[in-house]
Amino acid sequence: MKDEIETINIGIFGHIDHGKTTLLKQLSGRWADTHSEELKRGITIKLGYADITIYKEGENYNIEKKGTPIRHVSFIDSPGHEMLMATTLSGATLIDAAILVIAANEGIKPQTREHLMTLQAKKVEQLIVVQNKIDLVDKEKAKENYRKIKEFLGEKYSSAKIIPVSAQQNVNINEVLKSISELKIPERKLQADPIFVIARSFDINKPGTKPKELKGAVLGGALKQGTLKVGDKIEIRPGRTVIENNTKKFVPLKTTVLGLFKGSIKVETLTPGGSMSIETSLDMSLGKADLLSGNIASLEGKLPQNSEKARLKFKLFPEVFGTSSQIKVEPIMKKELLMLSINTSITGGTVGEINKEEIIVDLKVPTIFFKGDNVGIARKIQGHWRLIGFGEII
Ligand code: GDP
Ligand code: MG
Repeated sequence: MKDEIETINIGIFGHIDHGKTTLLKQLSGRWADTHSEELKRGITIKLGYADITIYKEGENYNIEKKGTPIRHVSFIDSPGHEMLMATTLSGATLIDAAILVIAANEGIKPQTREHLMTLQAKKVEQLIVVQNKIDLVDKEKAKENYRKIKEFLGEKYSSAKIIPVSAQQNVNINEVLKSISELKIPERKLQADPIFVIARSFDINKPGTKPKELKGAVLGGALKQGTLKVGDKIEIRPGRTVIENNTKKFVPLKTTVLGLFKGSIKVETLTPGGSMSIETSLDMSLGKADLLSGNIASLEGKLPQNSEKARLKFKLFPEVFGTSSQIKVEPIMKKELLMLSINTSITGGTVGEINKEEIIVDLKVPTIFFKGDNVGIARKIQGHWRLIGFGEII
């Protein structure tokens, strides 16, 4: 039987220690921190994943299979650490909506602001705010914090719901599930040429696997539009780097789709919505260590050529908030070095031309993008890349 329940991708954002991972655990019934490296460092380094189905029984929304299944959700936990802004920007490419976690006892912190800016830059318009750690504050403090959040959300996110929660003590999690169920599913363009943005790539073979049983490289990410089927011939661009006559070149990769996964479920056809992976016939070593993240996959011959220049219409934020003090954003200068986040790729580039609302950036690394793609613009400030504005490829 065909599964008629829609899947929505939701990113979880917020300042470190405000309770993102704890909330995700409550919403999904398990931990997102599955990377051993992360466990060691105690923070979410890579994007974590968890998939759930929300059930509804009367007015009760739950994940315990009580009532009727109404929505599949793929959660993406992003790192709250200030150094990892680039990963957060890439993560925002994969999502249809966001949850912003704000601890009521600490209020709005630098990364809370920077994450809201990220959502704005990546045109993520649907937002739920979880006012967490409500168990740690009294009523007055909670109200004051609520007012500040409302003010912080401003005009742009004025319709976002703010839900008081204690993730640790499992208070009001049902309200969050309800709000998730009420989010709009974006239009999925099933007939368009597929665009699969690659956020991760893996070698899934365990040490000691027999050569005959070795699996090819696996691509993790999201299908933004179109449909992919097992057996499809696909192309990955810009591809793999090779050094030729002392210069770095990109070679597109051609491969066959051997398997498709929605979450951990094997499927024959992939349509947008959910976190996904593609098992390819590529050499497994090409998948190692996220080597192919930032690339785009589509059917053979459907992707544009690499671009070495990005022309964009842009807007700067008035201030940078990633640091503990607020810093005014100075105008972009000709020849300055910027970092652009386009889909899941992060590319440095120097500003070639500039007028009031448009810039042309000479990219250090050729990149694949489409007209209308959203771009996050970052500048190095006090040694860290900070989001200073956003743009759109023209
Ligand atoms: P993250 O960095 O945003 O992922 O935050 P974590 O989920 O790792 O939580 C940071 C700390 O806050 C942990 O010690 C949690 O147990 C604690 N915490 C999370 N949610 C709550 C809450 O609702 N109330 C209280 N009191 N502590 C919480
Ligand atoms: Mg975490």
